[in-house]
Amino acid sequence: MYNLIVIGAGASGIISAITAAKDGKKVLLLEKLSKVASKIKATGGGRCNLSNTLSSNEFMSKFGKNGRFMTKALEVFSKDDLISFFSSIGLETHCPDGFRIFPITHNSQSVIDALVQEMYNLEVEVICSSKVTNINILNQNKKEVQVNDISYFTSNIIVASGGLGYSTLGADGDGYIWAKESGHKITSTHPAMMPLHTKERWVENCRADTIAKVEMYVDIKKYKKLKAVGDLIFTKSGIRGPVVLDFAREITPLFDKYEEIPLKMNLIKGKNENDIISLFKQNPTLNIKKCLQTILPLALIEQLAILCEVDTTIIFKKLEGVKKESFVKILVSTPLTISGHDGFKMAMITRGGVSLKDINPNTMQSKIVEGLYFCGEVMDVDGPCGGYNLQWSFSSGYLAGKLNK
Ligand SMILES: Cc1cc2nc3c(=O)[nH]c(=O)nc-3n(C[C@H](O)[C@H](O)[C@H](O)COP(=O)(O)OP(=O)(O)OC[C@H]3O[C@@H](n4cnc5c(N)ncnc54)[C@H](O)[C@@H]3O)c2cc1C
Repeated sequence: MYNLIVIGAGASGIISAITAAKDGKKVLLLEKLSKVASKIKATGGGRCNLSNTLSSNEFMSKFGKNGRFMTKALEVFSKDDLISFFSSIGLETHCPDGFRIFPITHNSQSVIDALVQEMYNLEVEVICSSKVTNINILNQNKKEVQVNDISYFTSNIIVASGGLGYSTLGADGDGYIWAKESGHKITSTHPAMMPLHTKERWVENCRADTIAKVEMYVDIKKYKKLKAVGDLIFTKSGIRGPVVLDFAREITPLFDKYEEIPLKMNLIKGKNENDIISLFKQNPTLNIKKCLQTILPLALIEQLAILCEVDTTIIFKKLEGVKKESFVKILVSTPLTISGHDGFKMAMITRGGVSLKDINPNTMQSKIVEGLYFCGEVMDVDGPCGGYNLQWSFSSGYLAGKLNK
C-alpha cells in the first residue's frame, strides 16, 4: 500500500512525487509512455522556458478569470522557489532576455535528468509503459489504481495526466474521464496555443518576415473586446507567432458558433490612418513602395497593394481618392479570416478541464473525494506563451504533493 500514487510523469506529476517523497511518503509514479517527461523535452523548442520574472500578481493576471485560483500554489512555490529548487538539484537557471527563465544549459533534457536523479535519490518508484486504465475510490483511506489487470493500492491519488494537446507526448484526456466518473465537472475543452489557418491565400507570399507588435482583434461586434498584441508570422496556410499562439485560446471556442472568424489587424506598430498619410506627405517624392519599406516588409506591401489594386511604383499623391482611402485603411486595419486550425494535434495547451469549483485552491484536493488531488494542465487553467504553463504545473504539483499538510 502506497501513501501516494501519482498518475502521469510530466512536470506537475514529477514535482508532486518529489514533494511527497521528501516528506517521507511512499510514492509510486505511473507513466503510460516508455519515458518520463516527454512534454518537458519538447518545451521551448527544446530549451524549456521554465518560468518568467513576473511577480505572482502580474503572473496570475495573465491567466484571465481563473488566475486567482493560483494564489496559494504560487505562494508556496513561486518563481523564486522554482529557481532555488532547480539549483538545489544541480540545475542553474538564467534569464537571457530579462523575462523568460531557462535552464542555463538551454537544454530541456538537463531539466529531465535533474528531476529523474532527484526522484531516484528520494526513492520514488517510477513505472513507465504503464497506462492507468481505471481508478476506484474504495473508501476515504483506500483507493485502487488499475493498469489493465494489475492493481495498486494507495491512500492518496494525484491526477497529473495533462490535457488533450500533442497526444504524441502522452496526454490525451484520461484524467477527465476519472474526474467525471468521480463526480467532478469538466468545463468545455478547446485547443489553444497553436497556429491558425486563414481563408486568404495572399498570406503565403509573405512568409519570410516576422511582423513586430501586431495588434489584432476579433471583428465580430459581440467579441470586439478580444484583443492581442505581439509578433506575427505568415505561413503557407495562415498565421503563427507569439501573438497567434496567445490569441488562439480566444479563437478556437468561437468555432462552436461561427464557421469563420473575421479578424482585423494593425500591422504597423500602433500607427493610425493619419500617421500613414503624414508619412506619405513627409516623403512626397518617394514612390509608395519605397516610402512604406521603412515600416513594412516589401512582400506585405505588395500583397496589400494588390488587394486594393494599387500600383506601388507611383507616388501616393497620384492615386485616385478612393484607392488612397482603401489602401491607407488596409495598412492599419487589415482584414483576415480565420477558417480553421489543426485541432488538439497541434495545440500546445488545452483550454478548459477539471472545474476549479470542485478543487480546493489551498491544497489542490478534490472537494468531492478526499485523498484525490489534481495538478497541472488537467485542470481548467491555461496561460499564454512565456513559461506560464510550466510554472503553473510545478506550483500546483508542489502544492498537491504536500497532501493537505
Ligand atoms: C511543444 C510544446 C512546447 C511547450 N513549451 C512550453 C514552454 O516553453 N514553457 C511553458 O511554460 N509551457 C510550455 N508548454 C506547455 C507545458 O509543456 C505544459 O503545460 C506542461 O508541461 C503540462 O504539464 P503536466 O504535468 O500538467 O502534463 P503533461 O506534461 O502533459 O504530463 C502528463 C503525463 O501524464 C501521462 N499520462 C496521461 N494519461 C495517462 C494514463 N492513463 N496513465 C499513465 N500516464 C498517463 C502522459 O503520458 C504525460 O507524460 C509547451 C507545450 C508543448 C506541447
